[in-house]
Amino acid sequence: MPGRIKTGVIGATGMVGQNYIQMLARHPWFEVTYVAASPQSAGKRYADAVAGRWVMDEEIPEAVRDLTVGDASDIATARARCDLVFSAVEMDKQAVRNLEEQYAASGLAVVSNNSAHRWTEDVPMVIPEVNPHHLDVIPLQRKRRGWQKGLIVVKPNCSLQSYLPPIYALIRAGYAVESLIVTTMQAVSGAGYPGPASIDMIDNLIPFIPGEEEKSEQEPRKILGTVRDGKIILNDSLQISAHCNRVPTINGHLACVSLKFGGRKPPLDEIIRIWQEFRAEPQELGLPSAPQPMLIYRDEANRPQPRRDRDAGRGMAITIGRLRPCPVLDIRFVALSHNTVRGAAGGAILIAELLQAKGYLG
Ligand code: NAP
Repeated sequence: MPGRIKTGVIGATGMVGQNYIQMLARHPWFEVTYVAASPQSAGKRYADAVAGRWVMDEEIPEAVRDLTVGDASDIATARARCDLVFSAVEMDKQAVRNLEEQYAASGLAVVSNNSAHRWTEDVPMVIPEVNPHHLDVIPLQRKRRGWQKGLIVVKPNCSLQSYLPPIYALIRAGYAVESLIVTTMQAVSGAGYPGPASIDMIDNLIPFIPGEEEKSEQEPRKILGTVRDGKIILNDSLQISAHCNRVPTINGHLACVSLKFGGRKPPLDEIIRIWQEFRAEPQELGLPSAPQPMLIYRDEANRPQPRRDRDAGRGMAITIGRLRPCPVLDIRFVALSHNTVRGAAGGAILIAELLQAKGYLG
């Protein structure tokens, strides 16, 4: 496919990095021309660097297996080989912040999975179907930092990708949501490779994921914020209480939600109609990774289930079920999203497609 955008994956050997490599193999707009990771992997053939820890179902794509892995700190080589980078490194947050800013200052567009820049004021944190307009802060980001072509956009935490879009759909339809209690059951792949020790996970679950409850409760404030004068104004109207658990599934984060409306309460059939008819900018633009539909409602009493529903819409759709009244708050439901696809690589690729569609990739 000629004319594709030269694309690098930084942290290409890890759990999320491997998902990028597989998902980008047949992408119509982006071509992987560069891979980078830690100094331990640098200098190796990609296939050798991931030998014994390639976790994807498909073989390593031909176009990537012989690429030489670069050192993530080598900005000049990245800039020479690509125009866009997906950042999926796992390292100290300040180091990630510095690294991503150096990439952007060199002229690269950076779309990141890391949490390092999620609270940086001029960096948008985007779910393309929820807050595509937050990309409007990029001109101010470039101006303030003196970047001509470079930019940084981040993807939010994987835990909230299952329940925030269905809630946003209700807010967009005119129903104020006041508060919610969410209990997540998060797959082991969310902890990266090799993840928690098997002795901790088999016949067990762990009712604690460091930092995850805070991210689940706080990040929606920015995602649901408004943009004024090129700045993102936080939305403090929604109160969230989160319980995050690590469970012994491989992929797929499931969330059980109880929710209280702030005013009018829609009937249950109206809520299902809102979800089934939900379309947003990625669907309108026909972006290559946009699921059609994004929100799937299943009537069966025992769905969604991680193994059966995580791959819906090639891992980019969100499956919802079990909508019913809540005797304490107003309603309750269950939602599921694929954490390494919608919640990581796929969600970031969709952001890059939106950047391209809006003219930010030049
Ligand atoms: P991972 O499997 O542990 O992979 C980490 C990657 O970072 C590897 O490529 C590793 O390279 C590289 N790396 C480690 N130390 C480095 C260093 N000092 N310099 C340069 N590269 C270094 O982690 P992951 O699950 O893919 O997560 C990557 C990022 O995505 C994290 O920030 C994570 O929080 C975020 N995220 C993950 C998920 C998920 O579901 N897993 C979802 C959303 C967001 P080597 O192989 O050479 O060590």
